[in-house]
Amino acid sequence: MSSSQLLEVKNLHAGIEGKEILKGFTLTVKAGEIHAIMGPNGSGKSTLAKVLSGHPLYQVSSGTVQYKGKDLLALEPDQRARDGVFLAFQYPSEIPGVSILNFLRTALNARLEKEMPVMEFRKLLFEKMQMLDMDKAFATRFVNEGFSGGEKKRHEILQMAILNPALAVLDETDSGLDIDALRIVSGGVNKIKQENPEMGVVLITHYQRLLDYIKPDYVHVLHQGQIVKSGGSELALELEKHGYDWLQNPPTAVVNQ
Ligand code: ADP
Ligand code: MG
Repeated sequence: MSSSQLLEVKNLHAGIEGKEILKGFTLTVKAGEIHAIMGPNGSGKSTLAKVLSGHPLYQVSSGTVQYKGKDLLALEPDQRARDGVFLAFQYPSEIPGVSILNFLRTALNARLEKEMPVMEFRKLLFEKMQMLDMDKAFATRFVNEGFSGGEKKRHEILQMAILNPALAVLDETDSGLDIDALRIVSGGVNKIKQENPEMGVVLITHYQRLLDYIKPDYVHVLHQGQIVKSGGSELALELEKHGYDWLQNPPTAVVNQ
């Protein structure tokens, strides 16, 4: 395997509660690439994100996942994070009494070999907040307490900027993607990517809209747990035009990656 291959998923079969959901999922992501995974509801998009994050309720029955040449599935979830895998939306919804500043400092220190001194962390945090056009006051808010949809997204994107991952897996669930949230996510991802061009991104989304703002290098269509079509960003436009209905009679099951 070449060292530029960040993530290599091969023939993955996985599911939950004895139900197989991913049925031979294959994907290769190189450093610096943005891959969009699109698909109708129930096609297995979130299952993919859960399996990559190491969610304990999901079982892998066969197939392999290599990350930087290592067996990702053999690593505990926190080890995956330490090794530079970022999975958005894996955190509990509300953490009373913990400020964003402290939450992010703990998350970063868990990733670093040596703790970052508080002053240095504050400097980093405020730099990233400035980059993302966020108000400094946001840092003292309690995590998710009374957050609007947009503020949750802001927090997730800030987390991503602070952790500076090698691979980001973003599961844009269908709910809560109003135009404000969409701009926060896409603007944030684009800025973080500009600072760190080597970052690989797996962007999981139901909607083509998000791809008006984040330009993927590859688009893959997931259907019943498998990629049934891959292409460039034009594939997302085709999907928008025809909807997911044409998947009932897929033109040809071409996997081209
Ligand atoms: P997507 O994110 O593409 O909408 P999911 O990965 O969430 O799809 O779900 C894929 C399939 O797995 C769906 O058919 C869904 O009903 C099923 N599923 C999801 N969670 C569970 C669960 N906890 N138990 C049983 N089936 C589930
Ligand atoms: Mg989903």
